Amino acid sequence: MKYCEWCGKSTTNKPVHVAQTPILEWIEERINKIGRKQIWGENSDWSKLEMDSDFEAELLVYDQLLSTVSKSTVCTRCLKEDERMWEKYYDDDSGDDEGGMFVVVEE
Ligand SMILES: [Zn+2]
Repeated sequence: MKYCEWCGKSTTNKPVHVAQTPILEWIEERINKIGRKQIWGENSDWSKLEMDSDFEAELLVYDQLLSTVSKSTVCTRCLKEDERMWEKYYDDDSGDDEGGMFVVVEE
C-alpha cells in the first residue's frame, strides 16, 4: 500500500508526474485578490504590492513547488481536485483574469 504525497491517504495509484504541491485554493484566492498580473506579470514589482512578507515568502515556495514536477504517488481524489483547481485558476483564455470572475464553491 502506498500513500498519497499530497494528502497522506492510502492509494493504489501508480506514481505519476505531478508538481510537488497541489494547487492551493487559498493561495490562488489571495493571488486573485492582489491581482494575477501584478504578481506574475512581466513588470511586477512585489515591493509595491500590498503583500505581507509572510505571504510573499509563502508564494515563493509555492511557486517553486508548483513548477517542480516529479514522479509522485497521488490519490485519484487529489488528482481530480487538482484538475478542477487548474481549470479554475489557470485554464483561462478569456484574456481577462483580473479578479471578480471566480465563484467559490462551498463544499
Ligand atoms: Zn491525496
